[in-house]
Amino acid sequence: MQWKQEIKEKEHMVAMLAEETRKVQIHKAESRAQLLKLRKKVEIDSRLARDDRKRLEDELSRLRMSCQMSDMLLEDDSFWSNSIEATASSSIAPYESSHETSRHWNCMLCLQNEVSVVFLPCTHQVICFPCYERNIKTVGGLCPYCQVKIEESIRVYGPSS
Ligand SMILES: [Zn+2]
Ligand SMILES: [Zn+2]
Repeated sequence: MQWKQEIKEKEHMVAMLAEETRKVQIHKAESRAQLLKLRKKVEIDSRLARDDRKRLEDELSRLRMSCQMSDMLLEDDSFWSNSIEATASSSIAPYESSHETSRHWNCMLCLQNEVSVVFLPCTHQVICFPCYERNIKTVGGLCPYCQVKIEESIRVYGPSS
């Protein structure tokens, strides 16, 4: 009878132990699951952070690019307006005095008076009115600059005439 009791107790102990082991194992599994979950969360978080950073970097580089683009466009604008200005002034003033300080253009014939006649249709403004009057008959009514027949001449007045 004694040994039966012992066996029973032993079985009980084994059962208890098994139960304990099971509990521990469950706990272990739970904590492992918890750990995995936590690790996954950290991974996701860090991936999100990485994505965020990547997105930010993309945004930044896009901004930089558009900045550069607008810089280039601005440069282009100034380039174009500069070249337009240069073209305009060169077409308006083919005989601009070589003196940088002089603001008027001198007659290509007498080289003294300010130009004061515009020829049509060539629109050249290259000689002064006195020279035009003096030479119109001898030059045969041709523009002294381009030799195109002058169909009309317009007396113009500059700031110093
Ligand atoms: Zn002249
Ligand atoms: Zn002409």
